[in-house]
Amino acid sequence: MSRRVLIVGGVAGGASAAARLRRLDETAEIVLYDRGPYVSFANCGLPYYVGDVISDERKLLVASRELFRDRFNIDVLNEHEALRIDRDARILRVRDLKSGEERDEQYDVLVLSPGAAPIRPDAAGIDLPGVFVVRTIPDSRRIRGWLTEQKCKEAVVVGGGFIGLEMAENLVHRELSVTVIEKQPQVMPPMDAEMAAPLAAHMRERGVTLRLGEGLQSIERDGDRLVVVTDCGGRLATDLVVLSIGVRPEAQLAQAAGLVIGRRGGIVVDDRMRTSDPAIYAVGDAIEVRDVVVGQEVILPLAGPANRQGRIAAEAIAGRATRFRGVQGTAIVGVLGITAGTTGASEKGLRRAGVSEFGVVYLHPGHHAGYYPGAKPIHLKVIFSRGDGRILGAQAVGEEGVDKRLDVIATMIQMGGTVHDLAEAELCYAPQYGAAKDPVNVAGMMAGNALRGDMPLADWRALATTKAYLLDVREPEEFAKGHLDGATNLPLSQLRKRVDEVPRDREVWVYCAAGQRAYFAQRLLRQRGVDALNLSGGFTTWRSLRDAGEL
Ligand code: FAD
Repeated sequence: MSRRVLIVGGVAGGASAAARLRRLDETAEIVLYDRGPYVSFANCGLPYYVGDVISDERKLLVASRELFRDRFNIDVLNEHEALRIDRDARILRVRDLKSGEERDEQYDVLVLSPGAAPIRPDAAGIDLPGVFVVRTIPDSRRIRGWLTEQKCKEAVVVGGGFIGLEMAENLVHRELSVTVIEKQPQVMPPMDAEMAAPLAAHMRERGVTLRLGEGLQSIERDGDRLVVVTDCGGRLATDLVVLSIGVRPEAQLAQAAGLVIGRRGGIVVDDRMRTSDPAIYAVGDAIEVRDVVVGQEVILPLAGPANRQGRIAAEAIAGRATRFRGVQGTAIVGVLGITAGTTGASEKGLRRAGVSEFGVVYLHPGHHAGYYPGAKPIHLKVIFSRGDGRILGAQAVGEEGVDKRLDVIATMIQMGGTVHDLAEAELCYAPQYGAAKDPVNVAGMMAGNALRGDMPLADWRALATTKAYLLDVREPEEFAKGHLDGATNLPLSQLRKRVDEVPRDREVWVYCAAGQRAYFAQRLLRQRGVDALNLSGGFTTWRSLRDAGEL
């Protein structure tokens, strides 16, 4: 007998589950419900629709109701809201939002992919006209309408995470003057602050006002305009406010049905996407997932995991043994010509989880060979286990080549790779694409050198308290333009002759502009009995740490 599979939520996770299940089971009856007017639309494209980079709304529709019916024999019922689950009777109560009619639908298997809702803070004025969230096509349509009708000139984006930054970029495309306020002292909170600093600097250069460490207090109406009042007493007059302060799993339906909900508010599932009721599966933004690097349950509202989980739920329903391996938090954002991204654990995430046995290398290579025109710097940070050299995380920011490096490292992390594997990775190289020693190879070599004791690392965060001798091995003209407080300048080119000037009774912390000359100096010194440690990433990293307020 054919099974009846009902799916709640018809976008990333739900639509993937439906289509995959049909490929595995021709006999199942599959019905997809979504309370919105569309299924399978590109939420990730919405900011670009607001920015008119995507100007035709139809481009956002990945698959239509008709396509689901004709190609997959799947019934799509949009503008239908799932209201209640009766688990004992295996019945889903559904309301047709057009007619208001309610009915009971029997299921053998239920899949929940209801997503996550944008958080609307409990602040005065949050519902005023001109204040928007961006989750659906109608949301974006409303913002587009408001921009034109009100002839908007200024916008305030509340929240500096990836959706907020994408909205900022797109409002700049629409020639608005944009201010981003962010409660944390940095943009892109999943990244470490010093890695987000170049991104913030770039945005400021491109005319975006960033007010970091400043949260939303309330919103007031002022004639035709709005005033955003911040918790630091700021009053920002604006024509438009976009709220993007994060999302909350839509777990109410599951919770009301008595399914187990986790500490982070998401539906608890096993590695086959089964909830605490074996007849109910859940996927996507609404669930908690295991971060395989840190070993904790997290909410990770991203499209890649949602799609993969939808597929895995379908495989489990079809009787296959596929399992979800967990997540590692790979994410990327592009803003006004700069890209920033992260994979695996951040340094602050590790510290929060009580992990301290890790090393960190910073490097600032070109994205391809320096002799080929147009090389742009990539700022790269790689975090690795001091025990076995396993790669724990990486972050990168730059104008070109960031996605490629992070994807290579993300794959290494997934395979349980070490920094030695990274050093050995055989990657594409021709001058316009990379370097014979690609930045990821160099990162692996640096970390390997640190682990082998060839390049012991100094801790940037101990700079203020260290008694070490600070040695700057750049040329005098570079030193004159700026250096660490208390540092002595002894250029690498003179170091062999003047090595006796370097003290042997304490640690010597060596740095240069980006790390390479310091490494050469460190090897020279260590082979002469000096306890030389490397300030990884040199003066460039110091500037980012300083800009981020980390030193
Ligand atoms: P969704 O895709 O949100 O789908 C859930 C659906 O369920 C919704 O249509 C909702 O209406 C419906 N629903 C909820 N409750 C009910 C109910 N009771 N009855 C019927 N229907 C219901 N991720 C990335 O990885 N990269 C990006 O660049 C990126 N950009 C993004 C930009 C924006 C503006 C947004 C909003 C998200 C972005 N994401 C991005 C996140 C990504 O879109 C989500 O992680 C992904 O869509 C989650 O899939 P899901 O199936 O869990 O939920």
